[in-house]
Amino acid sequence: MSTIDSVLTETRVFQPSAEFVKQANVPGMAAYQALCDEAERDFEGFWARLARETLQWSKPFTRTLDESNAPFYKWFDDGELNVSYNCLDVNLANGNADKVAIIFESDDGAVTKVTYRELHARVGRFANGIKALGYKKGDRSIIYMPMSIEAVVAMQACARLGITHSVVFGGFSAKSLQERIVDVGATLVITADEQVRGGKTIPLKPAVEEAFAMGGCEAVKNVVVYRRTGGKVAWTEGRDLWMHDVEKGQSDQCEPVQVEAEHPLFVLYTSGSTGKPKGVQHSSAGYLLWAALTMKWTFDLKPSDVYWCTADVGWVTGHTYIAYGPLAVGATQIVFEGVPTYPNAGRFWETIQKHRCSIFYTAPTAIRSLIKAAEASPDHHPKKYDLSSLRVIGSVGEPINPEAWMWYYNNVGGERCPVVDTWWQTETGGHMITPLPGATGLKPGSCTLPLPGIMAAIVDETGEDVELGKGGFLVVKRPWPAMIRTIWGDPERFKKSYYPEELGGTCYLAGDGANRDTDGYFWIMGRIDDVLNVSGHRLGTMEVESALVAHPMVAEAAVVGRPDDLTGEAVVAFVVLKRARPDDAEAAEIAKELRNWVAKEIGPIAKPKEIRFGDNLPKTRSGKIMRRLLRVVAQGESVTQDVSTLENPAILEQLGKAL
Ligand code: ATP
Ligand code: MG
Repeated sequence: MSTIDSVLTETRVFQPSAEFVKQANVPGMAAYQALCDEAERDFEGFWARLARETLQWSKPFTRTLDESNAPFYKWFDDGELNVSYNCLDVNLANGNADKVAIIFESDDGAVTKVTYRELHARVGRFANGIKALGYKKGDRSIIYMPMSIEAVVAMQACARLGITHSVVFGGFSAKSLQERIVDVGATLVITADEQVRGGKTIPLKPAVEEAFAMGGCEAVKNVVVYRRTGGKVAWTEGRDLWMHDVEKGQSDQCEPVQVEAEHPLFVLYTSGSTGKPKGVQHSSAGYLLWAALTMKWTFDLKPSDVYWCTADVGWVTGHTYIAYGPLAVGATQIVFEGVPTYPNAGRFWETIQKHRCSIFYTAPTAIRSLIKAAEASPDHHPKKYDLSSLRVIGSVGEPINPEAWMWYYNNVGGERCPVVDTWWQTETGGHMITPLPGATGLKPGSCTLPLPGIMAAIVDETGEDVELGKGGFLVVKRPWPAMIRTIWGDPERFKKSYYPEELGGTCYLAGDGANRDTDGYFWIMGRIDDVLNVSGHRLGTMEVESALVAHPMVAEAAVVGRPDDLTGEAVVAFVVLKRARPDDAEAAEIAKELRNWVAKEIGPIAKPKEIRFGDNLPKTRSGKIMRRLLRVVAQGESVTQDVSTLENPAILEQLGKAL
């Protein structure tokens, strides 16, 4: 039976303060349990109640869940609404018109604020402009823009007209852009002349030209360009239009196009950590419902909060927790153009201090790099800033190693703010397994418990539940409103990837390995594809990596398996130290120490056979470690896989050399 063995134990627990519990949206474990019980008792009734209470419907739904064509589930499918109406117009009606919706902080620190009234007007003008160009419900657009108010306007304007958008991260190359334009069949591209990151300008419009030159983009009729820098760009008369010209003379009022609940709001490609990116198709109503609810549940969002999610709109986190969720609940949010280390490693902390940010949500990769930076430049340590406005801090994207969690909790959260470690995926649309800050006791490195209505479980390869303490496949046994509807244009790949026959065909397979402890807490152990098999023991990557990261010298670590005559597979570790990369003699010393350290921390079975040191690890552009490439590198082979989302190809060569 292919369960996964757990070797790491973590016993620290942090309970929310009584004060926090008292004011929380979900106050205490009894309140959490009551919601879970309601979902258990009357699954459809639970979701129907929330959908009616949370969203404004132009045509109320009468059917909640349609399972007749599983796993192609439909939610609320005879209802109609408009997503942009639910994010903007409702806020004009409920007293938020003059509330700041977005505080935009540019790379150079300039601040622009827009209220809900202003945002509504801008979206209205831009939507009217693209409508006048002939775009309508059912069309697809590509949005290839920097972090900006304009990117949110573009997404919301598409939603207002029923145009399905596909946002491509501004750091992606022309080739990735071209593939996505072709795959979604886009007729409209919205971009910018250039973007600004870390004091440098990076061209965007030229990448669009390059993508077009590769062919296959002939269906695109217009390229709309937001003028960010005024840099010189090539121009095709008739096809290319400035965003401000498209808006010019248009009315602020744009009648929202009501769409069916299941109408595809967007298609977004996964990060490509484990293979070629998949075009994940999301719905309108179910998706927005979960975006709004999780803002209130997971972040405990209140009207007075200043919320900041540091993700890019090119990732699902930037969709659900920037472009849609915060607006759907009338929040004030910071949208940040820059990078965490410019002009110095204190940029995040200074920005929190400046805007009195109260809810902060970032990724483990940023936390790890800032731990390293804070040690190197103590002046920019979070402790040097006034972070007293913070009340909830969150993490998303990868497992957060317990030691990084503790650093975040102590130094950023002031030992006061609950850390919400949110496990979810592009495919899930929103948070799935996460603490509720006013209810859940926290354990560093655990994403804790499933949200109400999310029937998460851990099973073996036959679909049987594994016993507590054993690792297996993380699955979700019942559908949920924000789930992926299909892979764009490839329903067969959708079924095969997420609803395999081996598990019965109606159980969502996440692709991650996990275990549950005796309190029922979930611990993500790494990707199923990355599980190590050493002397008959199946080990997740997370625990071995966490043991390495717990060593005071180590900033980051990734482990992979390599075929081995003796043990089946041997553990090979790739390590980034907090200090500079050691020379060979020193590396041998440190490697020996780290091998012994792992043996002592979690047992000899997990002891790496080989350790290599690098300046960095191969990561996706969203900051995730790509272990599938390290597996190839560890075997001394050259990489022939899809590397379109790899951020730093040069690192493969550095890590390819054994000591
Ligand atoms: P691909 O599917 O193309 O391989 P990806 O899985 O990295 O790429 P995303 O949808 O961006 O694409 O990431 C989802 C994955 O990120 C999860 O399956 C999980 O492995 C990891 N992840 C996200 N949040 C957490 C978390 N809080 N704890 C542990 N892992 C997390
Ligand atoms: Mg994935």
